[in-house]
Amino acid sequence: MLKGIAASQGIAVAKVYKLEAPVLEIVQKEANPEEELKKLDEAFQKTVSDIEKIKETASKTLAPEELAVFDAHLMMANDPELRSQIEDMINNDKVNAEYATEQVANMMISIFEGMEDAYMRERAADIKDVTFRLKCNLCGKEIPNLATIDTPVIIVAKDLTPSDTGSLNKEFAKGFATEIGGRTSHSAIMARSLEIPAVVGVTGILDEAKEGDSVILDALNGEVILNPTEDQVKEYTAKAEEFLKEKEALKALKDKESISKDGHKVLLVGNIGSPQDVEGVLANGGEGVGLFRTEFLYMKSEDDFPDEETQYEAYKAVLEGMEGKPVVIRTLDIGGDKKLKYYTFDEEMNPFLGVRAIRFCLMRKDIFRTQLRALLRASAYGKLCIMFPMIATLQEFRDAKAIYDEERANLINEGVKVGENVEVGCMIEIPAAAVLADVLSKEADFFSIGTNDLIQYSMAADRMSQPVSYLYQPLNPAILRLVKMTIDGAHKNGKWCGMCGEMAGDEQAVPLLLGLGLDEFSMSATSILKARQIISELSYEDMQKIAEEALQKETAEEVESLL
Ligand code: PEP
Ligand code: MG
Repeated sequence: MLKGIAASQGIAVAKVYKLEAPVLEIVQKEANPEEELKKLDEAFQKTVSDIEKIKETASKTLAPEELAVFDAHLMMANDPELRSQIEDMINNDKVNAEYATEQVANMMISIFEGMEDAYMRERAADIKDVTFRLKCNLCGKEIPNLATIDTPVIIVAKDLTPSDTGSLNKEFAKGFATEIGGRTSHSAIMARSLEIPAVVGVTGILDEAKEGDSVILDALNGEVILNPTEDQVKEYTAKAEEFLKEKEALKALKDKESISKDGHKVLLVGNIGSPQDVEGVLANGGEGVGLFRTEFLYMKSEDDFPDEETQYEAYKAVLEGMEGKPVVIRTLDIGGDKKLKYYTFDEEMNPFLGVRAIRFCLMRKDIFRTQLRALLRASAYGKLCIMFPMIATLQEFRDAKAIYDEERANLINEGVKVGENVEVGCMIEIPAAAVLADVLSKEADFFSIGTNDLIQYSMAADRMSQPVSYLYQPLNPAILRLVKMTIDGAHKNGKWCGMCGEMAGDEQAVPLLLGLGLDEFSMSATSILKARQIISELSYEDMQKIAEEALQKETAEEVESLL
C-alpha cells in the first residue's frame, strides 16, 4: 500500500492507466531560419487549436471559472511576446525551433518560479503546460489525450496539468493518483470541482504501478492499494457505494436548516479568503459567512495597502453574493507569520506575541480607517458583521469601536449610505479575552472564537512549530472551559457566540460544541453538510449533558473516549 494526501474525497476501484508524457530529446542544431519559422508558425497554430479543443471538452464538466485556466493558456499561446522571443533566437542564433522554444520557455519558467507571490509562482505551471505542448507539436509527438479513454480507469501520473484534468471524462476516469502535488495544487483543486477521488503526493507510484494493474484508490485515507486481493476489492467496492450514498444523502441537506433532533437551531457558515469563495459556501449549503479573512486582500496587493475602492468592491461582492445571509468580515489580521510585500514590520523576538492584528491597526489608524470606511460603504448591500481580531482587553475593543463609530458618522455626514444593522463584535483568541467574556459582551455585539490562536496562546505552543504540535489539543478540558466561559459570557448579555477556528468543523468536536451552546459554527465550505447531518441526528439535551461531563474530565484523552 502506498500513502499520499487525500486531495479529493472518494473511493474508486479500477485499472491503472499510466499517463506518461512523451520524452523529448531536444538538442541544439544549426538550421535555416526561414524553415524553422514556418515550422514554428504551424506548431503555434496546432497548439492553439489543441487548447481550444480541450477547452471545448472541459466545458462539458467544468464551471466557467475553472475554464478560465484555458483562456489563460490560449492567451499565452497567442502571446506575441513569447513568440517573438523564440523568433528572435531562431533568427539571431540560426538554431532549430525546438531548441529556441525550450530555451525561451525555461527562462520564462524560472522567472515565474522565482517570484515571491504564490499566485505568480503557480503560473509557471501554466507556462510549462503550454510550452510543452508547443515543443511536442514541433517534434511531431502526440500528448496522450485523456478524452479518448473509454473504459473505467484510475489515472496514474507524475502530475496532471490543467489540460489533462480538463480532458478527463468522468464517466471513465474514476480517479487519479499522482507522484507529486499537495492539497492546493492545480490538479487537486480540479479534482474537487470534478468531484472525482484523487490522492496526490504518492511517492513511488510511477515505479510501482504497471499499465492495466488493478488498483484501489482510497481518497478518504490517502491510500493506494496496487493489485488488491479479491476480498479487498469487495470491501472497497462496498465502501465506495456507501460513500456515494452518504454524499447523495448529504446533498439533500443543502437547503435545510441546521437543527438538532429536539429542535435546537444553530447556524452553519463558511470561512472564506476571497469573494470567489462565496460560491463554494452557497453550493455546500452555508447559511452565511462566519469569517472572511481580509488579510489575503492585503497580501495579494503588490506595492501598497489596498485602497478603499478595491476593498469596497471585494466586501460588496461578498455581501451581494451571499444574498442577505449574514457575513462576518474580520478586520486586518496581519503580523505574526503573515507578511506584506510592501511593508516591513519592525523586528521582534516573538512576532506572534507582538504587533499583530488589532494591535497593528490601532497603531496605524490610517490603514484601519480605510478598511472601516470600505466595510461601512459595503454594509448597505447585505447583512454585515464586523469583528476585530486578537482583542486582549476591553480598552482595545473600545478604541477600535470608537474609530468605527467615527467613520460611520463621517460617512453619514458625507451623505453616503451605510447599513442600518451592522453588528460589531470581536474574536476571542486570547485567553484573557475568554476569561473576561462576560465583560466584553456588554459592549460587543457578538463573539467568534478563534481556536487556532486560542489554543496556541493557552498552551504557549507556536502553531507553526512541528515539535510542539502535540499541544494543539482542542479537546483538552482547559480549552473546553475557555470555550464555555466565552459562550456563557456572550449569552449572559444576550449576545451570540460563534467559532471560526478549525475546531468548529471538527466532526468529533461538533457534538460537544453544540452541547456547550455554540450558536454559529464557521468552517471550510466542504465540511458544512457533514456537520449539518451530525447535528440533525443529535439531541441538544443529551449533548448538554455530555458537555457537562466533558468539562469535568482531566485530560484530552478522557474527553476523546467520552465522545
Ligand atoms: C483562529 O485563530 O482560530 C482564526 C480563525 O484565525 P486565523 O487562523 O486566521 O489566525
Ligand atoms: Mg487567529
